[in-house]
Amino acid sequence: MDTSTNTDNQTVPVGRFAPSPTGRMHLGNIFTAVLSWLSVRSRGGRWILRIEDLDPQRSKYEYARQLEDDLLWLGLTWDEGGVDDIGPHGPYRQSLRGEIYNQYLSRLKSTGLTYPCFCTRADIMATQAPHQSDGRIIYKGTCRPKDFPLSGSLTAPTQRHATRLFVPDKDIEFNDGIFGKQTSNLATDCGDFVLQRADGAWAYQLAVVVDDALMGVTEVTRGSDLLLSTAQQLYLYNLLGFKAPSYVHLPLICNEDMRRLSKRDQSLSMEALRLRYSPDEVIGHIAALANLTPSYSPCSLNDLVRSFSWDKIPKTMSMVHRISQ
Ligand code: GLU
Repeated sequence: MDTSTNTDNQTVPVGRFAPSPTGRMHLGNIFTAVLSWLSVRSRGGRWILRIEDLDPQRSKYEYARQLEDDLLWLGLTWDEGGVDDIGPHGPYRQSLRGEIYNQYLSRLKSTGLTYPCFCTRADIMATQAPHQSDGRIIYKGTCRPKDFPLSGSLTAPTQRHATRLFVPDKDIEFNDGIFGKQTSNLATDCGDFVLQRADGAWAYQLAVVVDDALMGVTEVTRGSDLLLSTAQQLYLYNLLGFKAPSYVHLPLICNEDMRRLSKRDQSLSMEALRLRYSPDEVIGHIAALANLTPSYSPCSLNDLVRSFSWDKIPKTMSMVHRISQ
């Protein structure tokens, strides 16, 4: 992984964990948290906890509190963030950052690359060619004006609308810390994407870029389900003039039937894990899954931080947990 910006001791690596507080965390969530933490801590870096509670229906304050308790139980301490807003880059709950997102949305609007979109979900589904293999829907451009960039800003329509961003027919390349060189064409792989929904809700893609950039994050570690979002985010970094972080996408932890874990998988939730195991047993399990240790015996974060290396992590999109149920 590229750590070159950190060799002069002036900038330390800054990682982050950005959970959505929509339920109790499970083994897959903490797999990401542990590896992100180890990566930055092994190089004397800082770790931020950002609460991604953009979805008002599903996010709950109590879940955010609970996930903090679960992280601390494992020994995963953060330097900045959390629901108590510790640090200079707050607020760290996305639900409180709307004004900041609005500023950056205005900047994007002034590039002439955004447009109002009146399509409902049903409209989009109706114009839909067969879905991408990963289920993503590619917007067909129903509301898209003919020429881009637009000269002068559009008069804001009074009718409810989402704001969409034009994407060029151009390859975006990046180097993933685990999966290596990635290439994606936004026009064919993604299509024009939403920055703000018609109900005013902020899109994850905009929020995550603005937050990671303003919080000084140098390294994004997250699940491989977000690998395909990275090109969209790099495009936004570029338009907003931010320096992009490095990216590491981790294998998703799955059940025996290769279904990725969800917050409904009670038996691998932190609640069940805490009842059955000690913190060192859970960390030992994650370390073995990540190939950092040869066996599933208990170990501490301190044991792992000394010898941590991304080279050891399995280069696979998903893998099955080994906890007996
Ligand atoms: N909030 C997302 C999740 O809980 C993570 C987003 C990210 O790491 O970029 O899956």
